[in-house]
Amino acid sequence: MPETDRMNCPDCGAEMNHHADKLDQSAAADAASDTDEGGLVIEAHTCPDCGRTAARAAAQ
Ligand SMILES: [Zn+2]
Repeated sequence: MPETDRMNCPDCGAEMNHHADKLDQSAAADAASDTDEGGLVIEAHTCPDCGRTAARAAAQ
């Protein structure tokens, strides 16, 4: 993922920090995955201003 692909906080609009990636195995089971990894990569983001956390599916 390029560092320019940022996510803004839905509460305060600050630029969120991308701090983790995790594999969502349950999503793959639901979607009859067409990827080789057997799951979706989920990005975890945290807002430095208000502390809100958010997650989204990583771009493939
Ligand atoms: Zn925020």
